[in-house]
Amino acid sequence: MKNILLNEEEKRFMDEHGLGLDDFYDARGERKAEYHLNAKEKGCYYVINNYCQNGHRFKTRGGGHCIVCNPWAMAFQKRYSKDGAIYVASNGQYCKVGVVDNNSFSPEETLAHRENSLNGEGGYGGVTGWEIVAWFLVDSDLGRREKKIHDALSQYSTQREYYHDGDYRFAKEILECSTDEVMKTVDSLFGNVSWNYGI
Ligand SMILES: [Zn+2]
Repeated sequence: MKNILLNEEEKRFMDEHGLGLDDFYDARGERKAEYHLNAKEKGCYYVINNYCQNGHRFKTRGGGHCIVCNPWAMAFQKRYSKDGAIYVASNGQYCKVGVVDNNSFSPEETLAHRENSLNGEGGYGGVTGWEIVAWFLVDSDLGRREKKIHDALSQYSTQREYYHDGDYRFAKEILECSTDEVMKTVDSLFGNVSWNYGI
């Protein structure tokens, strides 16, 4: 990070969100296509770039979203770029591909917890019997990879409306295909991945 003078609002924002200058890549004068890769190389999720219409300079490295105007972009950026596990769940009829973040628990514990919540309160998509049948670890780009998989399998996706927590919701990630089909697609997208079976 070159010498960069922060104003009071910027300092306060960093403090509030537990961020330091190390979290930012100095992207002043760079276009998105350049700073995206440069920031990634430096391990920075965020960049300091040109001012948004409300006078902020802090942006996500991926989409160039102002994180002061859109604090949600921070959670999204982290999830999109971070490491974790991608899992394939099935209830015998439908499949689902999802991700869990890397956290202080083991992937098996985190996945077991996710399996429980998929089956809680009527079940994800209004169906129960979800089992996580296979999963693999990724060291980066968790959200990006998840999106790639969902895009590649979009011909199988079916929207199910279901009732959960007092609300009607749409489950968009339900797939009508076999887990073999899902795993074959994943293997073809990322080269053969190291699958773990069951949890
Ligand atoms: Zn802004």
